[in-house]
Amino acid sequence: MIEGAVPVRVVGQAGIAAGVQQKLSAINAALDDLASEGVDALVTAEGPVLMGGARAAVTQSEARYRHLINRMSALVAELSPNGEIIYLNDAITSICGFSAMELTGRDWFDLLLPLGASKSLAGLRELFLQGGELSMYRTGMRCHDRRQKTIAWNSAHVRDGEGRLTRLFLFGTDVIAQVLAEEQLRVSAVAFETQNGILITNPQGVIERINSAFTRLTGFSAEEAVGQTPSLLKSGRQDPLFYRQMWDSLLNKGGWQGEIWNKRKNGDIYAEMLSITAIVTPELGITHFVGNFYDITASKVAEAEIHRLAYYDLLTQLPNRRLLYDRLGQAVAATARSRLYGAMFFIDLDNFKALNDTRGHDVGDLLLTLVAQRLRMVVREGDTVARLGGDEFVVLLEDLGTGLHEAAALARHLGDKLRLAIDTPFDLHGHEYHCRLSIGVGLFHAQDTVEDLFKRADLALYEAKSAGRNSLRFFDPAMQAALDTRSTLEAELSGAINNGQLLLFYQPQVDAQSRVVGVEALLRWQHPQRGLVPPAEFIGLAEETGLILPIGLWVLQTACSVLKTWENNALHVGRQIAVNVSARQFQQAGFVAQVQAVLNDSAANPSCLKLELTESVVLENVEDAIVKMTAIKKMGIRFSMDDFGTGYSSLSYLARLPIDQLKIDQSFVANLPGKNSDETIARTIITLGRELSMQVIAEGVETEAQRLFLQKHGCHAYQGYLYSRPLRLDALNEFLKAHTPCRS
Ligand code: C2E
Ligand code: CA
Ligand code: CA
Repeated sequence: MIEGAVPVRVVGQAGIAAGVQQKLSAINAALDDLASEGVDALVTAEGPVLMGGARAAVTQSEARYRHLINRMSALVAELSPNGEIIYLNDAITSICGFSAMELTGRDWFDLLLPLGASKSLAGLRELFLQGGELSMYRTGMRCHDRRQKTIAWNSAHVRDGEGRLTRLFLFGTDVIAQVLAEEQLRVSAVAFETQNGILITNPQGVIERINSAFTRLTGFSAEEAVGQTPSLLKSGRQDPLFYRQMWDSLLNKGGWQGEIWNKRKNGDIYAEMLSITAIVTPELGITHFVGNFYDITASKVAEAEIHRLAYYDLLTQLPNRRLLYDRLGQAVAATARSRLYGAMFFIDLDNFKALNDTRGHDVGDLLLTLVAQRLRMVVREGDTVARLGGDEFVVLLEDLGTGLHEAAALARHLGDKLRLAIDTPFDLHGHEYHCRLSIGVGLFHAQDTVEDLFKRADLALYEAKSAGRNSLRFFDPAMQAALDTRSTLEAELSGAINNGQLLLFYQPQVDAQSRVVGVEALLRWQHPQRGLVPPAEFIGLAEETGLILPIGLWVLQTACSVLKTWENNALHVGRQIAVNVSARQFQQAGFVAQVQAVLNDSAANPSCLKLELTESVVLENVEDAIVKMTAIKKMGIRFSMDDFGTGYSSLSYLARLPIDQLKIDQSFVANLPGKNSDETIARTIITLGRELSMQVIAEGVETEAQRLFLQKHGCHAYQGYLYSRPLRLDALNEFLKAHTPCRS
């Protein structure tokens, strides 16, 4: 029985089942009896069993020791050599959630869980029971609520005289916080080594740590960077204000983000997207700054390229129309504040089209590039020189003072410089070329708009061109009035066809024997307020607005229906009508079909219809003109080359076009006889016509002397006030009946 006393040593009131408790009470009673008989101690196989006072003393000290152990925050377990749980302190039971009663006597390893994939429970048993003493060895621990704890164990072995393990004490610490912290560290370490460059500085901006991407991006190693400040990377592209604002944002908002140009160790400048965050703790304030950046140089380059393509003219590298509008908008807004005048120069190269057509587009492009360079050289750095397209350039000047006259003088001075710069001949692939400019200038001031400005400079350019090219014209208030009239006119003109306000006048054309062979149809606008408006005042507008298309069609239809009525009229039979065709009309895609349709509808005789084209209309696109003229010619219609001599007179194209007649421009006829150069021109045109088997007609013949000169040189036909002014249809009939030329 006494041997049964051995378990008495492990009494822990709470952990003993009721049956065992009963047994223990009996054993204790027996032991007390022995003690009362003077037995001090019994020796059992398990060791000595204390009796009486000694036993009481030990029990007392053991209770104290248990109390102490229970108060420890460390987890304490006492195990038998085969792993059976003998004792667990409160710290363990509270952490795992099982009671001591549930666990005492159970296998300790039921409570443990292996950590990591490779370790098994069997390995743990071996390690704990057969290995040496453990130090901070981590295992998992099963909990009542199925969660798992991570515990680090130290073990202490108690051995008997022969070195056999008799007891195993385990002391554990819940290391979950530590595990999480370690995990956090590992995550941070991985995050730190990303593609982005990272640098960590102290609050003074001294670099404490960098990652390897930092080294890859900047070229600076950790040894070189740590201890320095980020000014190590300064490119000099940002001004002090930039850095002040950055610091301001860091200190007041706790962060900054933006693009910054920096310099690598090898001196390369690069762009980075940088974000800096301040690390702040409540106790210490800012402890660190963390900078995170990546290289955006490639996207910056792409961005710049896109910007260049969108805002610059590819040929000349000058700002294009879009950028010019931007800058004009800014300039106009600036004058509203500053009240300073600015000026816009609308520049057009004279005869550029002819160069392009005769020498080819490469040469044309070369000239444009050279002109762009020279224009750029004349103006100041901050002034804008833009290319609108074709041979049109714009120069924009600002800050020309507050006085109108001063501003105008400055603008004229610059205009002269621009013309002078272009005046020196250009070397176009070994050929010397003289280029001339026409310039229209619009001054602008507070309260102007970009649209106004454009209109003004455009109008001034138009004036400059009409003034005979190679000249400079200012927009003036009289032009403004004209501009206003034009807008009203435009509105009215669009209604003119439908309101029956258009009509044709007819001017007779006579042959060498003064017989009327035909007429030229000349358009008039019967305006309700203005009276009879001559075409010079509205044809240009009609061309610009596109109204010329319906108007031109109307002219053609009217002329053809008149022709048809003449067929059965003895007075008119065989007479031709010449109809003027404008550039836009001729260039429209369906022009040939339109002419055919008008012929069909009117059933007029095509051989009595003549179309008057000018050289510029044909030169716009020679190939297209050949195709169209040939098709129309096939219908039986004739062509007359109007205003001949004033255009480019490029003979190379003349022979290729199906032209029946050359019309000597009235500006040459006016000076006959007497002005040498005009006499030569008139004679040359007549000779040319003979060579090319074309008829020649002179227009604007006002005097007998003119007619005589022309006749002497072999001119075939005449038109002008000498015979008749343009007449209404009824007046024409009267004229023909009388058949007497009205000599003045
Ligand atoms: P154009 O085709 O050169 O027409 C000749 C112009 O000279 C006409 O002016 C005519 O009245 C004028 N003229 C005729 N004989 C003399 C003369 O002896 N001395 C002077 N000083 N002038 C003379 P108009 O009728 O004012 O026409 C002006 C221009 O308007 C025409 O020039 C033509 O380019 C255009 N035009 C006229 N009718 C039409 C049309 O139906 N369609 C198109 N697209 N343009 C037209
Ligand atoms: Ca004409
Ligand atoms: Ca003419």
